[in-house]
Amino acid sequence: MKSIESIAHIDEQHRLVVELLPEIPDGPVKIMLLSTNATDEEREWQVLINHSWEEDWSDPREDIHTLKDGKEEQAYVIPQDRFDDLDYIEKRVRLVPLTSQGALRSTLKYLYLIDGPTNLPVDRRKVAELFLEPAEVLLARWLATRTNGSERKRYGANSLKQARIARYRCERCRFADVRVLELDHVYGHAQKTFACLCANCHKIKSRKEDWTGKRRDQGEI
Ligand SMILES: [Zn+2]
Repeated sequence: MKSIESIAHIDEQHRLVVELLPEIPDGPVKIMLLSTNATDEEREWQVLINHSWEEDWSDPREDIHTLKDGKEEQAYVIPQDRFDDLDYIEKRVRLVPLTSQGALRSTLKYLYLIDGPTNLPVDRRKVAELFLEPAEVLLARWLATRTNGSERKRYGANSLKQARIARYRCERCRFADVRVLELDHVYGHAQKTFACLCANCHKIKSRKEDWTGKRRDQGEI
């Protein structure tokens, strides 16, 4: 057995008291006593802290990715099989009041038909939002800003088409949470060629261009 350093105490009855980590196996051990100093005391504290962290990490309640979090993440992911499926759109439309069906149909076509409409008027979007999933509300607002709103000039219909082609996933790493998607101007703002990227991949791409100096004057940094 290899040697293991630990801190022990000698109690009033002159017994050696030592708390060992659970992975140390049973059986006889050889003991060599050394006096401690302040640094050792500090190290003892560090060993205890590390030990308590180990316990926390092995406790499933401490797991950061709980089921609840997972559900929330899922709520912001668009299933892949919704694209170019008119039956799916009509099924959704039939579930809502007649007065809202037109608005919902337009909005779902705008979101899910690869060659669908490239305009989503704000009044239609607002009616449809009552019947959209959280990911769809977010996408509809984000994309409508680019096709009908303040970012129309910089982005426009091509950016929407690219997001649909990417099926609302990052084109580089396939990350699917729509909350972090961005539309990158591939060749700078002067051109209307886009890539749908997650925030991380977009940042990495911009940083690379930043380091090389390439496209710095026209690109999206
Ligand atoms: Zn990515």
